[in-house]
Amino acid sequence: MAADVCDYYRVDELLSVEQRQVRASVRRFVDEEFLPTVRQHFAAATFPTELTPRIAALGGFGPTVPTEYGGAGLDSISYGLMCLELERGDSGLRSFASVQSSLVMYPILTYGSEAQKRHWLPKLARGEAIGCFGLTEPDYGSNPGGMITRARRVDGGFILNGTKRWITNGSIADVAVVWAKLADDEGQDRIHGFLVEKERQGFARPLMHGKWSLRASITSELIFEDCFVPEENLLPGVASLRGPLSCLTQARFGISWGALGAALACYECALGYSKSRVVFSRPIGGYQLVQAKLVHMLSEITKGQLLAWRLATLKDAGTMRSEQVSLAKMNNVSAALGIARLARDILGANGISDDYPVIRHMLNLETVNTYEGTEDVHRLTLGRDITGLSAFE
Ligand SMILES: Cc1cc2nc3c(=O)[nH]c(=O)nc-3n(C[C@H](O)[C@H](O)[C@H](O)COP(=O)(O)OP(=O)(O)OC[C@H]3O[C@@H](n4cnc5c(N)ncnc54)[C@H](O)[C@@H]3O)c2cc1C
Repeated sequence: MAADVCDYYRVDELLSVEQRQVRASVRRFVDEEFLPTVRQHFAAATFPTELTPRIAALGGFGPTVPTEYGGAGLDSISYGLMCLELERGDSGLRSFASVQSSLVMYPILTYGSEAQKRHWLPKLARGEAIGCFGLTEPDYGSNPGGMITRARRVDGGFILNGTKRWITNGSIADVAVVWAKLADDEGQDRIHGFLVEKERQGFARPLMHGKWSLRASITSELIFEDCFVPEENLLPGVASLRGPLSCLTQARFGISWGALGAALACYECALGYSKSRVVFSRPIGGYQLVQAKLVHMLSEITKGQLLAWRLATLKDAGTMRSEQVSLAKMNNVSAALGIARLARDILGANGISDDYPVIRHMLNLETVNTYEGTEDVHRLTLGRDITGLSAFE
């Protein structure tokens, strides 16, 4: 949805001047400061943490968080456009910002005490602290309600035990929002959020190795062995799975925009390539089969742009349903992955080379299709919504 990129239905005309300015500044940052080094980071499986202050200066951490807590106080379309431009760079870059905004700042803002908000939100917005979100466990991903990680009440606080896996930013985070079961006064288990600082004894954050997707992103385990956290680190505002799920709704909103950025990068690359690559007698873009692929990409991107835009207007009107977010996340990520695979095909052998961004996006989108609810889990969510019958268990 940048003026000079694919905007077939002129969605740009629906954007305000401020929204376009937000997009332009993030776009410039990605082009000038992120893209020049992304190949090295992807190859080395590292993330350019030195860019953290620059992302903060762009309002990339907590864009919709009120300014009184250090956020940028922007609307949801601006947030979506930021995600799109960051992910046009790399899904790892968008994940870095998404986790901080939607999975760390959002729960503190929504469920935290006033003291927790005053302490953490301005630091997180300035990028002086990095956060992570620990929900998934080795044996519980799509079904987080089964989690084993547990908190036990002790004098002055809680003792945490358990293991979280696949946690973005885990090893570099200053604070982890950790979800664990805690028995209430009647002995009933409830899911609570805890803020765990990196220095806590009994808390380890080993880096995970061997990923072939989202390589320019830090992924870790969080291990708690009799880790004490004080009473004031409990998020007081929620005591059920609704807590983490509501955070995921926020993050999925950003992903439904972000995936379009990766799709656009692949489409533009394939379109340009098809005009210059001559095979047999003419540029491959002149062959009907290649045109059919490019037109499929264009129509999927256009539908995704309209979906994302409408979702943002519903969000700002306060009427967005989590199922609508499921549909946008499922559709736009699946479409982006399909577009990336087609682009890779159009580039022939060059499609697997890191001289072009396509294979990196394609590999990344395999993760994006799985995390924050797999494509099929969203399909089941929607199936339940329209039939009233749950096919989950
Ligand atoms: C790079 C990366 C970063 C991540 N970052 C984070 C993070 O920061 N924090 C965090 O908490 N988690 C994170 N995750 C974890 C992610 O959210 C989970 O991987 C995801 O929820 C899926 O869980 P799973 O991998 O255990 O798959 P499973 O739940 O084991 O699913 C395996 C397969 O079974 C299918 N399936 C599951 N249930 C059903 C059903 N009822 N019917 C039909 N099919 C079903 C799924 O669709 C999938 O195809 C990350 C993952 C990756 C790869």
